[in-house]
Amino acid sequence: MPTTPQEPLIADYSINDEEEKKAILREYRALLRSLKESLKKGDKTLLRRAFEIAVEAHKDMRRKSGEPYILHPLAVARIVTEEIGLGVTSAICALLHDTVEDTEITLEDISRDFNPYIAKIIDGLTKISNVVDLKGDTTIQAENFRKILLTLADDPRVILIKLADRLHNMRTLESMKSEKQLKIASETTYIYSPLAHRLGLYEIKSEMEDLAMKYTQPDTYAEIAQGLKDTKRDRTRYINEFIKPLKEDLTHNGFEFEIYGRPKAIHSIHNKMKTKHVTFDEVYDLFAIRVILKSQPDREKEDCWKVYSLITNFYRPSTERLRDWISVPKGNGYEALHTTVMGPGGRWVEVQIRTERMNEIAEKGLAAHWKYKEGTTSPQESKLDAFLQHLRDVLNNPDTDTIDFIQDFKLDLFTEEIYIYTPKGDMRVLPKGATALDFAFDIHTQLGMRCIGAKVNYRLVPLSHQLDSGDQVEVITSSKQNPSEDWLSFLITAKAKTRVKAYLKEDKRRIAEEGRLALKRKFDHLRASMSSHNINELMLYYKKPSQLDLFYAVAVGNIDINELDHFAIYGDKFQHPGREEKKEKLPEEDHTKNKPAKGSELIIFGERSDKILYKLAQCCQPIPGDNVFGFVTSGEGLKIHRTDCPNAAQLLANYGHRIVKTKWAKNKEISFLAGVRIIGMDDVGVIQKITNVISGELKLNMRSLSIDSNDGIFEGTIMVYVHDRDELNNFCNKLGALEGINKIERIEKAED
Ligand code: MN
Repeated sequence: MPTTPQEPLIADYSINDEEEKKAILREYRALLRSLKESLKKGDKTLLRRAFEIAVEAHKDMRRKSGEPYILHPLAVARIVTEEIGLGVTSAICALLHDTVEDTEITLEDISRDFNPYIAKIIDGLTKISNVVDLKGDTTIQAENFRKILLTLADDPRVILIKLADRLHNMRTLESMKSEKQLKIASETTYIYSPLAHRLGLYEIKSEMEDLAMKYTQPDTYAEIAQGLKDTKRDRTRYINEFIKPLKEDLTHNGFEFEIYGRPKAIHSIHNKMKTKHVTFDEVYDLFAIRVILKSQPDREKEDCWKVYSLITNFYRPSTERLRDWISVPKGNGYEALHTTVMGPGGRWVEVQIRTERMNEIAEKGLAAHWKYKEGTTSPQESKLDAFLQHLRDVLNNPDTDTIDFIQDFKLDLFTEEIYIYTPKGDMRVLPKGATALDFAFDIHTQLGMRCIGAKVNYRLVPLSHQLDSGDQVEVITSSKQNPSEDWLSFLITAKAKTRVKAYLKEDKRRIAEEGRLALKRKFDHLRASMSSHNINELMLYYKKPSQLDLFYAVAVGNIDINELDHFAIYGDKFQHPGREEKKEKLPEEDHTKNKPAKGSELIIFGERSDKILYKLAQCCQPIPGDNVFGFVTSGEGLKIHRTDCPNAAQLLANYGHRIVKTKWAKNKEISFLAGVRIIGMDDVGVIQKITNVISGELKLNMRSLSIDSNDGIFEGTIMVYVHDRDELNNFCNKLGALEGINKIERIEKAED
């Protein structure tokens, strides 16, 4: 198409900074270039109109970083076109994504100026962010996540643009306040990166997780980044050595290809260190080799296997680590051949073989599928359709408890897949670890509800039987069967769990209603009212988290309501005489661990810390020096967690409004319990050396030391009281310097 010399109008941009105007135009032109091939007649005019509307709408706004606001929608539009591979409609929506919410422009305006499709997508985008911004309670947050998922099922472009928006916000998180950073980063790992993963956007998912880690675990992030930097030269040399013979051979065999080594993402290196309990130096697969082939559509599979065969002529493959995602692609559409081979110097090296088309799918996910579908229904596409259908099914169930649902759903998003066959030979994809009962629910809810067992490869197995890839499963049902509580202990798919929970809840509600009536009669008899004060009093006394649980316990006889005769009643209010005593009789087993004495070691922003009662969370045992945040609990006051606590993402993402900014004050008076795990070679003197460091050299207070040894290797746990992180690090360094000790790591919590 002919290029119009006419520049877009940004003449009345209120900021009289020529440099900024130039920068804005530069971004706009880059956006145009990224769309060039796909622009049809009239598209350019539409895009320019969207740009001008956005410029005008945001003309008085600046981002936290100080730059003109319009650079944000422009950046989002470029992510949408360049990194996700969407077309001009999505670029227009991205340009306009913040206009309806932040300015006078209405959806009607957009529908009139552009078209109803664009208005609908923007409506979807606006709905999501409206709810995010509400300073609401958990249910609203959770409901919002649900909405995000619903729009996904509706028009996937909404969520793709939302992901681009989120990615840009993560890239520019630097200029936000620290508690905002934590909240946004946690939301990202909690919902957005799993979604990106599920939609096959590996690059985006990976970048989101790395950025989130940078803010939630800054120290660990920096350490690994430094480690990668320090080892870069050696790695490059090794990769070149590895690749050289392959390059020659592949070329010789007439292939057109690219081959390169790619370092793993920081968060995935970190995951490996954590799950395998290894140090950075021990992560052997810091990189993977990627071969990307030019190939004809009908020769792709053959070519990839041919390359596999050539590579394994040079390097011996590990038989256990061959993954063929070409014959059976992953549920999110990913296709490739992965193998691990023995490289020079006895190192295992992962090699990924893909064609250019497969590579585009790996990077751009869902959007790339659309591009390649061209009228035909490819197997990948129908898989994505099946996933979206599944999502709609679950979401449309009105009984679903949203927070639970998201938890279960997230598990589904990340696990590996297995392939199961029906008796007729149809294939179903389930997450690894799925049981016969999960399979029954996957086929049909009623089949699951009535399932009493299954035949796996013609052999009778119980409901809880875990399936393996390739199993053929026939479900056996009985009309007398009903779901029971223990099913939840082995079900793993979100759909099945959601259905069973909804059924049980309904059942429990019916029973609890009897309990409520029984309690009401008792109250009447005692002339006490069924007020929320009285109900709360009983919930506290019997330690029941909800009214439903209280009523249920009464109904099934776990609570004897005759005990209420011993409660004191003032007016119509209850107070159990034992309650006050009971409180005092519950001493903290260990005050240093749970309840710091004077509350002066923490600064809680916006409050006078000496007035606030707080506890250190048991799940992560923070010590001074750790990055921490305060969390307002419903019954136990303020709890302090580490930002890298295993529960942090869930808390921050769901309960953002209950976060209190907190930081350690300098205080050397109080000690905190911290734990480290050590591994080393068994040596007679080692315990002696360790205790020397602890009590001799550093004069630390030790609470426990346990050592297990086995075949010359020992593993131990030490619990010591330290004042802060520096002291703990110093302690770890001292231990590390001892001969015979190979590894030291801080443990999240004491397991004593
Ligand atoms: Mn935005």
